[in-house]
Amino acid sequence: MKRIAVLGSTGSIGRAALEVIRHLGPPYRVWALSANSSWQLLAEQVREFGPERVVLGDERHAEAMRREMGRMARAGRRPAPVLFVGKKALEDAAAAPEADVVLLAVVGAAGLPPAVAAVKAGKMLAIANKEPLVMAGDLIMRLARKTGARILPVDSEHSGVMQAMRSGARKEVRRIIITASGGPFYNLPAEKIRNATRAQALAHPTWKMGDKITIDSATMMNKALEIIEAKWLFGLRPDQIEVVIHPQSVVHAVVEFCDGAMVAQVAAPDMKLPIQFALTHPERLDGVAGAINLAATSALTFIAPDAERFPALKLGYQAAREGGTMGAVLSAANEVAVDAFLNDRLPFGGIVEAVGRVMASHRVKPRPTLVQVLEADRWARAEAQKIIGKVVG
Ligand code: MG
Repeated sequence: MKRIAVLGSTGSIGRAALEVIRHLGPPYRVWALSANSSWQLLAEQVREFGPERVVLGDERHAEAMRREMGRMARAGRRPAPVLFVGKKALEDAAAAPEADVVLLAVVGAAGLPPAVAAVKAGKMLAIANKEPLVMAGDLIMRLARKTGARILPVDSEHSGVMQAMRSGARKEVRRIIITASGGPFYNLPAEKIRNATRAQALAHPTWKMGDKITIDSATMMNKALEIIEAKWLFGLRPDQIEVVIHPQSVVHAVVEFCDGAMVAQVAAPDMKLPIQFALTHPERLDGVAGAINLAATSALTFIAPDAERFPALKLGYQAAREGGTMGAVLSAANEVAVDAFLNDRLPFGGIVEAVGRVMASHRVKPRPTLVQVLEADRWARAEAQKIIGKVVG
């Protein structure tokens, strides 16, 4: 039996993960489900997957969820699951001895405490949530070495790197290339990008994702986060990580070995594949994601990203080079700026600008503790609010 805690089960990755688990069937089993506030969908998932534990982050919906679960228990064919409420409950589920695999798909910085809890408990952590590694990669990787926790990337590019790396020994890797779809704006002039609207930024050409990551993909801040994520996951120097725009989103990553051979991971742009590979790793099983018909695929193109139009990449390399608390600062400032953009408080071009200004006024703490990481996160959020307040007037 492989008992899986799906944390963040109502988001786009969480729902895809449940589709994968439904497809895999036994021995893969949902042990826990969690959501922040989408309690109705969570209840539906509980009814189908019958987990032993249910976690709801937002206490305001606790009563409604409790009533719903009471109804389930009275109708019950299975033993009723136990409901836990609040942020601490998420950490407890991530560290619980019953969970063999923790699939972390919560949104944003909220993923850090459960990620640390899972790693401390020596879990197999399938990580779709970028922020924990971006914010505290140094700390998490050090902890993982101590506890024997295994961290498996669910991000499609990093899953691609992990898959391609199986072609050679670690010391034979010269560098990696992660691809970016370029988002909806990769061939627009700078001025048009600067003033892009919410609707334009949310219309992603190849991937269907949540709002935050769709905006990150339009600014290319998503790639900036992925550069930092790759540095920690694979122990690479920032100059060993290249980003290439590949609008078809078919090649997800390329590993270049020391003899010049490049091994690419090619798959349909469907998150179900990286999710499944993280769950079945190191094996591969029949998949639910569709395959690609190469002969029917039109030209695949690769374009160097324009650093002037997409300044987020520069910030990503800067944060990866400086390390310490800078990743947390980039990530936190970006969350605040994206939220401001989505609420019409900041123009599109102001997102990356605000992040750059917050980073410029941060003094990096090397090898930070969790407390220092959270402090840097709080500081960056307040600083970003200040800067955005000034932009809007
Ligand atoms: Mg990605």
